[in-house]
Amino acid sequence: SDVSVTPTRILTNLKHECATPLPLLQQVAKAMSDDMRAGLGLGPGSELGLPMIPTYVENLPTGNEKGLFYALDLGGTNFRVLRVQLGGKDERVIATEFDQVSIPQDLMFATSQELFDFIASGLAKFASKEDGRFHISKGRKREIGFTFSFPVKQTSIDSGILIKWTKGFAVSGTAGRDVVACLNEAMERQRIDMRVSALVNDTVGTLAGAEYWDNDVVAAVILGTGTNACYVEQISAIPKLQGYASSSGKMIISTEWGAFSNSLPLTEFDREMDAASINPGEQIFEKTISGMYLGEIVRRVLLKMTEEGGLFGKSVPQELSTPFILGTPDLCTMQQDCSGDLHAVGSLLYDIAGVESNLSERKTVLEVCETIVKRGGSLAGAGIVGILEKMEEDQRGLIFGNGNRSVVAIDGGLYENYPQYRAYLQSSVKELLGIEKSKNVVIEHTKDGSGIGASLLAASNSIYK
Ligand code: ADP
Repeated sequence: SDVSVTPTRILTNLKHECATPLPLLQQVAKAMSDDMRAGLGLGPGSELGLPMIPTYVENLPTGNEKGLFYALDLGGTNFRVLRVQLGGKDERVIATEFDQVSIPQDLMFATSQELFDFIASGLAKFASKEDGRFHISKGRKREIGFTFSFPVKQTSIDSGILIKWTKGFAVSGTAGRDVVACLNEAMERQRIDMRVSALVNDTVGTLAGAEYWDNDVVAAVILGTGTNACYVEQISAIPKLQGYASSSGKMIISTEWGAFSNSLPLTEFDREMDAASINPGEQIFEKTISGMYLGEIVRRVLLKMTEEGGLFGKSVPQELSTPFILGTPDLCTMQQDCSGDLHAVGSLLYDIAGVESNLSERKTVLEVCETIVKRGGSLAGAGIVGILEKMEEDQRGLIFGNGNRSVVAIDGGLYENYPQYRAYLQSSVKELLGIEKSKNVVIEHTKDGSGIGASLLAASNSIYK
């Protein structure tokens, strides 16, 4: 190996390229605001902005919702069903019950009818076990909030066309179709007499669920395997919905911020990971800040350090060449090690990569983790500030003004489980906002609010109002 390319030099370079000093974070926040604005626009230039998808969610839960509602959540390897009995302002959530079914691998490659029949039969089974705590008002159908976390072109609150499957799903016959119609047809085949009243993605469900408990929530962010953010926008600030009549004057916009790519501090490792991905050139922000990728970026750095810099001695362990062998939870485990000899770091490296390591090598590995996680958390924070600044520009004083409180609800396994990531995100938000504005902004962790949120949206978009 080339003696001039030591792990230390690779590390120094990496830290330099991944640095997120205040001016850079400010630039990212500004670029996020600008790309949001561009994406809301009409005509030329709008395709350079973020997708900014109208969700047709115009009414958020108020707390007055009453009755029995269901939620159905399809967004990954599990699908979940939930029912909730709502009691209005005073009684709030009287009872909830949920069930989770993992989706058999073969159904991910099945026909649309097979997948939706499976979902509808799971729903039928769950609905048949409704106990005495739940009761439907006379003359009403049970209404469903359907959380469907795949790219959808929504046309109303209760319909949306699947653009494409993602996350390993390759179901035939759904793309180009209204997923609510697919579900309705399957429910008819199963003889279930229910109605989908709201179609949402998990970000929107999270915002609605958080809003129910706290009326100051203005935005929601998911930081899990992937990432997305949504917020409450004024209809008057959405040129591409020109002429659209809305009762509330507001609509939740799904930013699809994973697609953001401006001003990001990227490295050769990011570029190579992107090039090897199934969607090269796409979802660059997601690839820099979300759980699916942080471990893989670190693996690529460590591989270069072993191949070119002799980290872990002469032999290059085969395992380190395997994409995605190092997960983000592994980085998290290593970063919690505060023992003197970094014992946990050593055994994790041995278990996963088959390498023996000395203390100084373990320290280097930790510094690589730290660098990538700091960049991720800090950039996520800058994205959040970008959203808040966009809102403040249009509604002066309403976000940062004195006496106001603006809450951002965050959910997802990465934010929930990785304390260092969370801390970097929070301190980036603080640093960007400064002391005064920070007093009015609350970053709040909401756990599993998305399911309840979807059922609340079924309630606030009920056909019986
Ligand atoms: P999803 O985003 O897949 O719907 P989650 O919100 O539960 O589901 O997020 C799961 C992701 O969270 C995992 O893919 C992983 O990247 C991340 N994650 C889970 N546990 C940890 C952990 N202990 N440390 C860091 N990241 C974690």
